[in-house]
Amino acid sequence: MSDPIIGIDLGTTNSLVAFADASGPRIIASPDGQMSLPSVLYINPATGALTIGAEARRRAVERPMETIYSVKRLMGRSLEEIRPDLRYLTYRVIEHAGAESQAVDVMAGPYRFTPQQLSAMILAELKRWAEAHFRKPISRAVITVPAYFDDAQRQATRDAASIAGLEAVRIVNEPTAAALAYGLDRAQDELIAVYDLGGGTFDISILRVEKGIFRVLGTHGDTHLGGDDIDRLLVELFVRDIRTQFGSGIEFDPETQQALRNFAEAVKIQLSQKTDANVEIDLGDGRAYQRTITREELETLMSPLVSRTLDCCASALMEAGLQPGQVARVVMVGGATYAPAIRAAVGRFFNAEVYTAVNPMQTVALGAAVQASILAGAGKKRDTLLLDIVPLTLGIETVGGAVTKLIGKGSHVPCHASTMFTTFIDGQAEVKIHVLQGEREMVKDCRSLGQFVLCGIPPMPAGIPRIIISLLVDANGILSVSAKEQRSGVNASIQVIPSYGLTQKEITRMIREGLEHRAEDLLDHWLIDLHNQILVDTAAIEKTLATLSDQVELGYRQELVSLIDGVRGMLHWDDPEKIARALHYLNQKSAPLAEMAITRALREG
Ligand code: ADP
Ligand code: MG
Repeated sequence: MSDPIIGIDLGTTNSLVAFADASGPRIIASPDGQMSLPSVLYINPATGALTIGAEARRRAVERPMETIYSVKRLMGRSLEEIRPDLRYLTYRVIEHAGAESQAVDVMAGPYRFTPQQLSAMILAELKRWAEAHFRKPISRAVITVPAYFDDAQRQATRDAASIAGLEAVRIVNEPTAAALAYGLDRAQDELIAVYDLGGGTFDISILRVEKGIFRVLGTHGDTHLGGDDIDRLLVELFVRDIRTQFGSGIEFDPETQQALRNFAEAVKIQLSQKTDANVEIDLGDGRAYQRTITREELETLMSPLVSRTLDCCASALMEAGLQPGQVARVVMVGGATYAPAIRAAVGRFFNAEVYTAVNPMQTVALGAAVQASILAGAGKKRDTLLLDIVPLTLGIETVGGAVTKLIGKGSHVPCHASTMFTTFIDGQAEVKIHVLQGEREMVKDCRSLGQFVLCGIPPMPAGIPRIIISLLVDANGILSVSAKEQRSGVNASIQVIPSYGLTQKEITRMIREGLEHRAEDLLDHWLIDLHNQILVDTAAIEKTLATLSDQVELGYRQELVSLIDGVRGMLHWDDPEKIARALHYLNQKSAPLAEMAITRALREG
């Protein structure tokens, strides 16, 4: 591999760099492990020294005049064009000093920069991350821009790249990159919507993919609508609360304002995973503000924003001359789409499958990397992986570390399978669902694709909940796994792309190892099933003995108790045939007990 081409998502809020090879795209982290770079610059007014990323972002409220953010909004625009943006910016933007009068300059304290120079600082930082990763100079990149960027904005992006010492080998539309991250260039003549809700901007794009080529049929959006607005609504809520609690006169210094904003964002992010979150803010003078906020409260708060995005979706569809039902799938992009309510609302609006398998904050960068690898000539290698069949068996972990296989390798897509699970412990409220890939029987020998937790199962005795687990691989090779407890209706799901991170070589190796270990694996799996059976059967017999204590003869009870002890002693045995025989014997002996229990239940019922 000579001279890698990297993919860069130069975002309004966050920027990322990625690289793709035969095993698919992945994010390149900074040398100290950050996966993304906040697109924020701080220029020290005294020395002119530059601070970039998270460190600069932390200062934004304290140093409003010298902290530069949202540079992307200024790229290739005239002062006239960005007039509506100016009230959102705390630093000064003035008419460009040079020959191109149709442009602006940014004043960072006493220092003057073009937007291209500032974007170049972000690009140069990402280039450094990639160079540290590859330990060699990087000179070429694919860079993404919004679909609506005009020639001047695209040219400004190219210029920023060359200032940073990068050749922009291609400028790619963000929605196209997002679709590429899902391998949708292979889809057959399909309509795809890309819903991108970032920190401060919302974009909806309707694409048609035909023979690997994407065409943008319509775009719409709102350049001042994003996750930051949700943070702002939360801050307003906190401030209202605090004023009610501690007096309306209370003022907030910049430090507290920044803290409120950080809290708001943290709460919002937590509420994407949990149904409630705690806020605790120290207001000084022994005053502390404390409150719990539920996911429902947040959803009510942000519902007008979600509606506005859906209005934009309707406009984009109209522009493309389409109805919502014609869109085959929606790709979710941007950190704000982590919110379950947003995913659900978008799914309902389009009545289409919503793709969330790829981390929405990374989708665009990963897609840029896929485009880069195609340009670098790795396209052929990629094709061999993305076949119309499931390359490796898909399954779910069961108690004891074995895998229940549900979709066999070689199955043609689309395909699906489901199975019934239950709980193992009385009153168990949560079940972890672990999705695996591979030909071996034990979890430790398979490749983990992801896991999720089904929670909120109402208290029931072990074995009673009926949890249906379904796996669905769609025509594009994207796997959705869902779990639903039938009585209560509680459900949870996850989406993954099984082919991500796999090379043809690894697939071959995993299949070969599966064959080599077949005999011992089956034995191991049988043993685990028997061990589980020992636990379930002995517990059930003990429970019946306890409920029928007044009816069971002492001799019979003693016989069963000693049989149970004997069988439990076999938990460490590794001769499955002997265990199976003993279990069979125990069940035969306990059959009269089971009958007594049924008779009694019928009489009482
Ligand atoms: P941009 O494309 O504008 O650079 P991103 O796609 O990086 O933006 O999204 C940033 C936004 O996503 C921020 O408002 C951030 O708070 C929000 N965000 C990140 N993670 C989550 C999450 N788990 N739940 C909800 N919002 C999130
Ligand atoms: Mg973005």
